[in-house]
Amino acid sequence: MPQRQQNVYAAQWSSNGGALGAPDLTEPGASPFGENVFHLAVQRQRLPKHVFKALTHTLEGAEQMDPMTADAVALAMKEWAMEKGATHYTHWFQPLTGLTAEKHDSFYSPTDEGTALADFSGKELIRGEPDASSFPTGGIRATFEARGYTAWDPTSPAFLLENPNGTLLCIPTAFVSWTGEALDTKIPLLRSMDALSQSAVRALGLLGQDPAKHVFTTIGAEQEYFLVDEQYYFERSDLYTTGRTLFGAKPSKGHELDEHYFGSIPERVLAYMLEAEQELAKLGVPIKTRHNEVAPAQYEIAPIFENSNVGSDHQQLTMQILQNVARRYGLVCLLHEKPFAGVNGSGKHNNWSMGTDTGTNLLDPGETPAENAQFLFFCTAVIRAVNKHQALLRASVANVGQDHRLGANEAPPAIISIFLGAELEDAFEQIVTGGGVETKHGELTLGTDALPKLPMDSGDRNRTSPFAFTGNKFEFRALGSSMSLGFPNAVLNTIVAEAIDELATALEGKLDGGDVFAAVSEVVKTVWSENKQIVFNGDNYSEEWHEEAERRGLANLRTTPDALPSVVSESTVKAFGDYGVLSERELHSRYEVWTEQYATKLNIEAETAATIARTQILPAALRHAEILDEGGDGAGVQKLKAELSGLLDELIEAIFALEAANGDPGKEGLEFAEYMRDVVIPAMDAVRAPADRLERIVADDLWPLPKYSEMLFIK
Ligand code: ADP
Ligand code: MG
Repeated sequence: MPQRQQNVYAAQWSSNGGALGAPDLTEPGASPFGENVFHLAVQRQRLPKHVFKALTHTLEGAEQMDPMTADAVALAMKEWAMEKGATHYTHWFQPLTGLTAEKHDSFYSPTDEGTALADFSGKELIRGEPDASSFPTGGIRATFEARGYTAWDPTSPAFLLENPNGTLLCIPTAFVSWTGEALDTKIPLLRSMDALSQSAVRALGLLGQDPAKHVFTTIGAEQEYFLVDEQYYFERSDLYTTGRTLFGAKPSKGHELDEHYFGSIPERVLAYMLEAEQELAKLGVPIKTRHNEVAPAQYEIAPIFENSNVGSDHQQLTMQILQNVARRYGLVCLLHEKPFAGVNGSGKHNNWSMGTDTGTNLLDPGETPAENAQFLFFCTAVIRAVNKHQALLRASVANVGQDHRLGANEAPPAIISIFLGAELEDAFEQIVTGGGVETKHGELTLGTDALPKLPMDSGDRNRTSPFAFTGNKFEFRALGSSMSLGFPNAVLNTIVAEAIDELATALEGKLDGGDVFAAVSEVVKTVWSENKQIVFNGDNYSEEWHEEAERRGLANLRTTPDALPSVVSESTVKAFGDYGVLSERELHSRYEVWTEQYATKLNIEAETAATIARTQILPAALRHAEILDEGGDGAGVQKLKAELSGLLDELIEAIFALEAANGDPGKEGLEFAEYMRDVVIPAMDAVRAPADRLERIVADDLWPLPKYSEMLFIK
């Protein structure tokens, strides 16, 4: 089918087809929020009083669940789910693939009389037994040592996933090896939340202000994604096997005009967003924001923040729902960090803070941060933690897709630094010098009385910082769009727990019954001075910053193989060991899994690139040569032939070289990853360069792949 017709076909969309209509949300019960969640209100309503009480005690960490309670919860959960059409249940978990996993079991078992009975016990709720050796374990489980368990996480509510042909009860679970090691992202996250809570409660006791019994970490993740028409997606084996385009000339129009960002959302896309958000609402995911992002065909969705464990589960669901619902609109949602070379990539902003069970945000600076001992203490702990473990934080966001963003010419850089803003930096400097601080909350007048005066924030924003203070939280911006929030947040919580303890111990030494603020000031002064090298308020993209960061001795780990060894560095092993988050063996297993994933994914990309080049692009170019042959011997045609033949020679050479590089180099682990980075990526680039130039000269109807201009601009 010639290109033009394909485009017209792709652009088809009928708003009448799958339209959901808009319900009257003022009617009681019309809001779908939480409809498919076995949340607290349903639990209270359906569980016998004593069971509900026992369950809440478990949730508060006061006691372990007894089998009777588990049976009663299972029964109520099953009845609730079946009333809503569920026939099956699954333990829903997050192995080291970075994705979610599920194995469905029917509620029904046959009886002696030839009928079937629905049954679901506390035992089945609490424990499942998937084959652990079929998931990545990084050497913890050999193929013959299969046993692993999934364990119910009662702190993240069960939910229903709907399919047109049936409904599934999903029970969030942790995944552990028979030998007791964590094989997932949830266990370390939960352990790190406990660690941080303990340290923070200890510190609050010393500060003597907040009588909190529990401190929990919070996350709200802004998720970027691309949407392309599914017609194009399925015509590109690179997209459906690797998630990104391995070929494609830069289109004549990019985002130079800045017309897409916050632009009005195309109707088909908005219809899709509304349905995706409605599905997420049913699942209790509190979506708040949607908008067009910077790149054409790029969008963003963000929820209201929640506690880290639930927020992390909800993030996984958000990615899944975004992908599922897209297909109903003839679209495919791309979560790769860099689907299109030369076009902005997709990240995920991890907004993070710490809150007490008494309702205080520990990173809220209030009106006068320089006088706020509690804020200064916790903020300094974060600065200390990020400075000490900067390499680990960088490693926590490393993956093959991220190598196109971090350390490349894109946001944010691979150097971890903190943006505090001028006012806060002043506040810290004032503590060092002992002077008073002036807070500037001005007003902005707009030059006409028709418009109201705007209250101003105390500082500007900095879009380029990988770790920015944004008012009452830190925004860790270096995560990739496809990533699970589990590990980066386990890292954040653990290193901050460690720093809080370190500061608390120093504070204890200085308190001695005296003035708390004076003692905090002294601690803050020392820790700030030792760690302020990590603070940078300027342009993180600039060449000068790279030089300055090097002078400061900050880590600049450009690629995944550079970064990953920090997962098993001495300081990581110590912090994670001291706080019981991951043992050395558990850290090593992650290091091995991620190193292997990097190499394997690159190998898949490289083989896909070689195949597309040889079986699609090369034949198209050869057919184009035939057209030129028919064009006679005129000087112009000769010129075209010479141009084409030069590119063909270059392409053919490069294909052979890539195919050779794709052979087994006989390396393992980090060496294999480095080989992929140093030998295979350049070989892929060498194929892509002439291929992309060929795209610009080969007859349009012969070109086998949808082009960037089509994928990005036909909506
Ligand atoms: P911006 O980043 O543009 O300032 P918002 O203030 O809306 O935008 O925050 C973005 C994200 O940060 C949202 O998901 C929001 O829920 C989340 N967020 C706000 N406060 C906190 C907090 N205390 N802890 C974690 N995330 C938070
Ligand atoms: Mg933000």
